[in-house]
Amino acid sequence: MEILHVSAECYPVAKAGGLGDVVGALPKYQNLLGHVAKVVMPMYRTKFLYTNDWEVVHKGGSSLGYSWFEYTVIKEKNNKLGFDLYLIDINGLLDREKVYGYDDDTERFTSFQIAVVDWLAQWQHKPDVVHVHDHHTGLIPFMMQHCYAYHHLKNIPSVITIHNAQYQGWMGWDKAHYIPTWDGWKWGQLDWQDAINPLASGIKCAWKVTTVSRSYLDELKYMSNGLEDLFEFEKGKCSGILNGIDTAVWDPQTDSYLDNHYTVATAAAGKLANKEILCKQFNLAIDKPLIVFIGRLVGEKAADLLPQAIGDSLYYIGQKMNFLVLGSGEPAVEQQLESMRGSLMGYYNSQIGYNEKLSHHMYAGADFLLMPSRVEPCGLNQMYAMRYGTVPIVRRTGGLRDTVKDIGEINGYGVCFNNAAVGEITNAIYRAVTLYEDAKKMQAITEQLMNLDFSWETSAQQYIEVYQSLR
Ligand code: ADP
Repeated sequence: MEILHVSAECYPVAKAGGLGDVVGALPKYQNLLGHVAKVVMPMYRTKFLYTNDWEVVHKGGSSLGYSWFEYTVIKEKNNKLGFDLYLIDINGLLDREKVYGYDDDTERFTSFQIAVVDWLAQWQHKPDVVHVHDHHTGLIPFMMQHCYAYHHLKNIPSVITIHNAQYQGWMGWDKAHYIPTWDGWKWGQLDWQDAINPLASGIKCAWKVTTVSRSYLDELKYMSNGLEDLFEFEKGKCSGILNGIDTAVWDPQTDSYLDNHYTVATAAAGKLANKEILCKQFNLAIDKPLIVFIGRLVGEKAADLLPQAIGDSLYYIGQKMNFLVLGSGEPAVEQQLESMRGSLMGYYNSQIGYNEKLSHHMYAGADFLLMPSRVEPCGLNQMYAMRYGTVPIVRRTGGLRDTVKDIGEINGYGVCFNNAAVGEITNAIYRAVTLYEDAKKMQAITEQLMNLDFSWETSAQQYIEVYQSLR
């Protein structure tokens, strides 16, 4: 089958979170299964653009409301990522360093989607499926079906995957003219609660909807930032497919970011060597369990609870453990995590910002990874941690529920708790410290974790089955 993935992110070209990891890996694994998967994304000004070779494959133009824009499609020449990669350049809108966070994101991603559909309309042949990801590409199924200029695309099946339903791309009806002339009777396919809602439109118009874990799909029916009724109504075409991890990139035996590689057999020494580097760099004690947090410092990740949970743990359990936090996000949380460094020196440290290399070091060198998330559609961090023999401490929600089994259960290998509350996090940390003190059990769990299989093979095949059901 030929699959065209459309996404705002794709690792290593541009990544802001898990979406980038997924779109950087899934197409590669679909190709390994004998299909032809391609990716098209915006041409941001990132390092990958300047360090690879490109050819121009198409030039075109379209309008965004009353203004005309020209776009160029370029293709990476050497199949660096294991799939055909196309970037769309639109001067003045997409030629930026960051993926998101600009005042004109609505204009940026609407014009990107128009350019994708306009380009697709010129293809000599058609792909078997167009697979869009999250709200930034959620208007594409609508455009393929209801824009007069693109009517001949309406029989191409489309699938939308929801990586995060908290963000929906809302835009006012005053921007309806941005979308190329469309059948006005179909306004209901764009609308949700009196606004144009690209995510809701994607759910309504795509032929199938997938979420990145089964538990997340169940949760969306009662907690999806206003879309609960829509998920209930459309449940017949929804399914949950757990993300995999790219085991070629995330491998403690070969990871190019690590100074000390290790296998299951050498995990004890390998992890300790990586921990030593971290402890030196961040002034922490090597003989205490190292508990880390990596991620966006936002409410969804319950990052606001970290300062008190860390403080309470050190106070009530005793100074038996160390903490290291890597992340960026809400300024108030960043500030709190920075200001705690002084009073908790020697037990706690943090680095505010995005640092891919440090994150790999932390997955490898830590003893535990804490994820108290309020919402976690799938979560990749816990799977990376487990691949590196690091025990996850997670709240039972979304993909965390589907991937981590508590040590209290038969063959369990993680520490789980039910509520995103300081008391429950502190209690989970207490259980983790107790586990750490049982060296034999800790080693057995490390081995068990590293032997778990979170690779993409199974999930990539499940997506193919979804596409095949549409033929
Ligand atoms: P989300 O997409 O909701 O942020 P995921 O768990 O799906 O969460 O994916 C997060 C990805 O982003 C992981 O690869 C994680 O290592 C990475 N990441 C998040 N924050 C940082 C950071 N500050 N520095 C380096 N990597 C980070």
